Amino acid sequence: MNTSISQHLFEKAQNFIPGGVNSPVRAFRAVGGSPIFIKSAKGPYVYDEDGNEYIELINSWGPMILGHAHELIQKAVSDAIQHSFSFGAPTRREVEIAELIVSMVPSIEKVRMVNSGTEATMSAIRVARGFTGRDKIIKFEGCYHGHGDSFLIAAGSGAATFGTPDSPGVTRGVANDTLTAPFNDLGAVQQLVDANKNHIAALILEPVVGNMGCVLPKEGFLEGLRKICDEEGIVLILDEVMTGFRLAKGGAQERFGVTPDLTTLGKIIGGGMPVGAYGGKAEIMNWVSPAGPVYQAGTLSGNPIAMAAGLTMLNYLNDHPEVYTQLESSGAKLAAGFRASQEKLGLNYTLNQIGSMYTLFFTNQQVTDFPSAKTSDLILFGKYFHAMLNRGIYMGPSQFESMFLSTALTDEHLNKIIEANEDSLKEIL
Ligand code: PLP
Repeated sequence: MNTSISQHLFEKAQNFIPGGVNSPVRAFRAVGGSPIFIKSAKGPYVYDEDGNEYIELINSWGPMILGHAHELIQKAVSDAIQHSFSFGAPTRREVEIAELIVSMVPSIEKVRMVNSGTEATMSAIRVARGFTGRDKIIKFEGCYHGHGDSFLIAAGSGAATFGTPDSPGVTRGVANDTLTAPFNDLGAVQQLVDANKNHIAALILEPVVGNMGCVLPKEGFLEGLRKICDEEGIVLILDEVMTGFRLAKGGAQERFGVTPDLTTLGKIIGGGMPVGAYGGKAEIMNWVSPAGPVYQAGTLSGNPIAMAAGLTMLNYLNDHPEVYTQLESSGAKLAAGFRASQEKLGLNYTLNQIGSMYTLFFTNQQVTDFPSAKTSDLILFGKYFHAMLNRGIYMGPSQFESMFLSTALTDEHLNKIIEANEDSLKEIL
């Protein structure tokens, strides 16, 4: 596969952009080699600058749940830009999208739009702190909630990939206010809560983790957290930036039947445009300025082009429940295919999959938390990644990421992925 133009662009990029990329994991550091530079994408495919075609499993890290360049979203954006790009003033679509989110995610009574998942989580813990009058938060090792200072403590995703879980630049003061527990360990959470009585404002987690690879909550874990939060007056924040509108119309909270106090959203909610949101109980959200004293603002928040894309996306998902049926059956088909290949090849690597999210971990241990995810053979993952790429399958370039399926993948594409997976495993082992 010729990727010379991508390689040239990456060399040039490193002169002008730190590490040559605008978000670390894109640099392929975890898997070696040079990143491919994407020129365009349509449906289930991305095309690089050298003209190579790949079947997509990144989907912009989640937003492109309907595949790329969906006609309805394209039309909504092209209609919206006829009326200018930003007003910094209220617009009709902001009301419509808020009403729609409230109707799709029952735990959300009021919602504020921001520009990214990072802004959403930063703002959610601020309002939780304002509401409770407490400073500390609990997060889980390996969960990633964006690059806000409070969250770069034992963080997953790119931070895990680069081995810098505690980033320089985060002050000790901020770090001291973030307590961490192992995912799926209710006992550890109870201990932290007992040792910090009346000091914990919020507990934040990815209900299904995507950022240490795909890791599912054990039975009773989410319910147990809800109970602890209720007992201790702690604001439970489900970070559904990845899982929102993906694992079900109402997100992981609908799927697992757990009601948070606040929810953070991003990715799908913008239809591919830069959007995030945080919302939840009105009694908490009414603390947000100008309704209340907790300040949070944004020049481009509720941007009209982003709202047009997001509103079209959410309306589509709301009106087409078959999207979720399809994603469930695609995920199940892929998992069955991967498992059949492993059996055939006498392998026992751990495949975690739920709906349209999955990670194949190169470890034989069950992966239920960050330490078990880290037992994976990262060198082998790097080889597997390139073997897949050479077969035209574009995956997330790190063991600590979830893959995302879209509705643009037909059975034919899924069969190609299953076949490429088997051939890649044969090649690297
Ligand atoms: N929360 C979760 C669960 C995420 O997966 C991410 C990004 O991947 C974020 C927050 C941060 O979102 P953004 O990259 O839009 O700032």
